Amino acid sequence: MNNAFDPASAAGLSERSRKLVERRTALLGPAYRLFYNDPVEVARAKGVLLYDSEGHEYLDAYNNVVSVGHCHPRVVAAISEQLGTLCTHTRYIQEGILNYAEDLLGTHADNLKHVMFTCTGSEANDLALRIARHYTGKRGIIVTDEAYHGNSDLTASFSPSLGAQSPLGTWVRRVPAPDSYRVAPDQMGPMMAAHVAKEIEDLERRGEGLAAFIADSMFSSDGIFSHPTDVLGPVRDVVHKAGGLFVADEVQSGFGRSGERLWGYQRHGIAPDIVTMGKPMGNGYPVAAVALSPDIVKNFGRDNRYFNTFGGNSVAMAAAQAVLNVIRDEKLQENSLRVGKMLRDGFAELAKRYEQIGDIRGSGLYVGLELVKDRASKQPDAAAAAAVVNGLRARRVLISATGANANTLKIRPPLVFSEANADRLLSETEKVFAAL
Ligand code: PMP
Repeated sequence: MNNAFDPASAAGLSERSRKLVERRTALLGPAYRLFYNDPVEVARAKGVLLYDSEGHEYLDAYNNVVSVGHCHPRVVAAISEQLGTLCTHTRYIQEGILNYAEDLLGTHADNLKHVMFTCTGSEANDLALRIARHYTGKRGIIVTDEAYHGNSDLTASFSPSLGAQSPLGTWVRRVPAPDSYRVAPDQMGPMMAAHVAKEIEDLERRGEGLAAFIADSMFSSDGIFSHPTDVLGPVRDVVHKAGGLFVADEVQSGFGRSGERLWGYQRHGIAPDIVTMGKPMGNGYPVAAVALSPDIVKNFGRDNRYFNTFGGNSVAMAAAQAVLNVIRDEKLQENSLRVGKMLRDGFAELAKRYEQIGDIRGSGLYVGLELVKDRASKQPDAAAAAAVVNGLRARRVLISATGANANTLKIRPPLVFSEANADRLLSETEKVFAAL
């Protein structure tokens, strides 16, 4: 995993950290990972700030789940009030879920008229692909090279970013992400569509056929590729021609993250057949969803029943409604656009002085800085990325790294990140680059 703490280096930690890390390993087992060479202990948070047990403040430029800010009072109040009134599941009539469903679907493409609720993005993608397979009668799934879509058996099977030891389904095919740093923008859409067409041919030849193509329109785990935005249209055409479904995974790029539009797929001017959502949807309360066209889920509903004990419960809906209201009332999409641009402009200034910054990407408050050994070769520099991530952590500013080569700085703060916060991030980053 990118930016993972290596337990072999625990001896170098403070006594408190070392003991906590040992206790974690003893209790939680070997599969968990911590961030940073010196893992951060967090005790409380507010807005874009995290605090450790000694009260030290950290600037959070990484966490997208708490997109309206850590512990937003309106979300906290909505959750607490609902928890003290009623918290039960979807087998009773409740108006809250209907009001939220109406509100949420109103923000989406016209064809998306139903929404089904889950607790996690993994569950949403799992359900989306089960429905796509039922609808198409096919098994094949196409994803990008370093995609991550979840941790269930099905979704892990089409999440290559879990690493070479994590098995992929025999019905999974991978295509390169749209690497705008290395491929000319006008070639990108046709190139990606051609890759997808080739993989469809292979799936058909092996008797799998295509159920769905699924992608995060910002290609987060592939290294954050936000432009050009005429890439997914040609892909959708090829997918539809083969009878497959286009699934937009909005777990990362949705709810205003891109600044430009509420949903990432809207930036590509397409209407997906299925959209999955999660992470920031409840600002930390587990709530996720699948929105889809009625014709796609019609026979699935005839042949199956859907129940999810916690998905769509009264409190989940109250949390999600409060989040959507705050995004609109506080104009957070607009803030994302403005502050995101300010960050990219600031990094462009830094890039004039630091050759390692090869490329600056992203949209809104999703920023990727690809670090390279030199700009001529564009050779990935994972060591520089790790040094910047850990250098910032030492200065109590939290970001991480992404991409197949772990060389792209991943900056993805809560959407309430202000201009002053951006200034602080830029000046701290400058100091870290100066010390490299
Ligand atoms: N899709 C994408 C694009 C994601 O980034 C993630 C989480 N990192 C998921 C799906 C899975 O979501 P969850 O962790 O809520 O299961």
